[in-house]
Amino acid sequence: MRNQIIFVTIFVALFSAIYICYNGGQAVQSYSPRSSLTVVLDAGHGGIDVGAVGKNGTLESDLNLKYCKTLKSMMEEYGMNVVMTREDEGGLYSEYKNGFKMEDMRKRREIVQNANPDVVISIHMNKFAVSSSRGAQVFYDDEMQSGKELAMVMQQVFIDNLPYARKEAKMADLYMLKCVSSPSVLIECGYLSNVEEEALLQQQDYINNLCYCILASVLAVIEG
Ligand SMILES: [Zn+2]
Repeated sequence: MRNQIIFVTIFVALFSAIYICYNGGQAVQSYSPRSSLTVVLDAGHGGIDVGAVGKNGTLESDLNLKYCKTLKSMMEEYGMNVVMTREDEGGLYSEYKNGFKMEDMRKRREIVQNANPDVVISIHMNKFAVSSSRGAQVFYDDEMQSGKELAMVMQQVFIDNLPYARKEAKMADLYMLKCVSSPSVLIECGYLSNVEEEALLQQQDYINNLCYCILASVLAVIEG
């Protein structure tokens, strides 16, 4: 219990410091870079594979990239070394043919393994038949304890700091969570099948807020 209180106290202080540093999108020089952590940011989908499509036409692949770019600049401001699996709208396959998706995934894994990262963060947007479903959710591989810990902390940070978040992080059997033994999580930032959330997910303030949550969670777990 005492450890939990200490953790929460440290976390609140840390989160506040980060928020103050980035408030208004303007980084100020009130902190010094903390480390040379290497993080892989994986923007899901790309190219012909646009992922989920929102009711108002938002493409998941575009939004994933937008979140990764925001996160990249925040993390670099914090002294982290960031490797992206993709930096434009294109996919990672050579041509659109049978098996292109597997080629795309293998290429992502190759980039992750070559980066020898401390953390892997894969960004996606969700979609569900029930249009009322909403909220960010973190996924982890059950056999990777380090990823599970990061996922649990991150989900709680979402719950505490976002207007809507799913109640718990969830176990999943996903390719991108098995590339390396370092903590790896996949974040479904929200539901494009919910019209309100589709609009919210595109607002830069919301993108910044969600990305602060991811950054704060990484710092709390990896550096804590
Ligand atoms: Zn996706």
